[in-house]
Amino acid sequence: MECSATGKDNCRCTYRSCSRRGNCCQCVAYHRSKGEFTACFFSPEAERSYDRSFKRLLADRGR
Ligand code: SF4
Repeated sequence: MECSATGKDNCRCTYRSCSRRGNCCQCVAYHRSKGEFTACFFSPEAERSYDRSFKRLLADRGR
């Protein structure tokens, strides 16, 4: 499957030194391999915690 890069300008992740930033395919693959979610799933406040776990996502969504 082809996957084109979104580009760093459109990435919501605030971890600016990440080598996967702007490349959604690499980003998703990396976090999926760890059972996590990417920055764009989280609110801006939760995103800045850099905790990409399902537990944090549920807390972020008020569940
Ligand atoms: S969500 Fe994770 S992999 Fe994606 S750009 Fe941010 S730190 Fe990197």
